[in-house]
Amino acid sequence: METTREQGGEMPELPQVEALRGWLDAQLATRAIARVQLTDFSALKTYKPPLSALVGLEISGVARHGKMLDIDAQGVHLIVHFSRAGWLKWKPEQPAAPARPGKGPLSFRLTLDDDSGFDLTEAGTQRRLAIWLADDPHDVEMIATLGPDPLAPEFTREAFDAILDAAGRSQLKGVLRDQRIIAGIGNAYSDEILHAAKMSPFTPASSLDEAGRQLLYDQIGTVLADAIERCQGLPPDKLKDDKRQAMRVHGRAGEQCAVCGTTIAQVSFADSSLQYCPGCQTGGKVLADRRMSKLLR
Ligand SMILES: [Zn+2]
Repeated sequence: METTREQGGEMPELPQVEALRGWLDAQLATRAIARVQLTDFSALKTYKPPLSALVGLEISGVARHGKMLDIDAQGVHLIVHFSRAGWLKWKPEQPAAPARPGKGPLSFRLTLDDDSGFDLTEAGTQRRLAIWLADDPHDVEMIATLGPDPLAPEFTREAFDAILDAAGRSQLKGVLRDQRIIAGIGNAYSDEILHAAKMSPFTPASSLDEAGRQLLYDQIGTVLADAIERCQGLPPDKLKDDKRQAMRVHGRAGEQCAVCGTTIAQVSFADSSLQYCPGCQTGGKVLADRRMSKLLR
């Protein structure tokens, strides 16, 4: 079974994109866009407004929607979904000559009026990094359909109760990482939150009692706040490594749980695999891998 690490990189989630947002906001403040260049033509998902609309505009601010970054240039929004292998590389000085399209990991290059800027890059051969240009971020379907942000004041205990009520018998792992239900939590932080809450990833949402609901709600806030505190202020090139290092169960199958010493296990889930501690989360029981048991039968 493949782990997310073996599949070539870690998807940045809410804490990394939030740290990147803050870092970039300080770098880009009051600068104007001098040049933009798209080198991976499949990355751009919109054609109106055109990319050239960005040129000459001043950066008004940088926002985040779930795991997506939103650079606002006087009302024209450059929105980025990094996906698993994509990221942003800050460049103190961008080259004057245009980059050659279709070569290497470069997808998009932006140069500011002081010649600094950033590259959007994607490792590997899969092209999943996505860029949208929009006058209103909510024109982007992936943003319009996002659930509440767990850091926003709207994410109250009442809102979380409504989410769990609507989820019914859906498994907690799937509820936590569904962007349409809660925005920003992916495969990694859902593993970490469930470990911190000592809950099985396969627990049906409807089976949580009042204490369980409160515990899970608290751990969503705590795990994300701790992760943000840890990575805030780090430059973009440190954020993905930091994410990996800070994980307690995610990506750590075969290692010992730091809390109870049990060997961390993994099981396939949806399109990838999840990691959990049988000692902390499932009363010592190793979860059956449905794909695996199908093969063995
Ligand atoms: Zn444990």
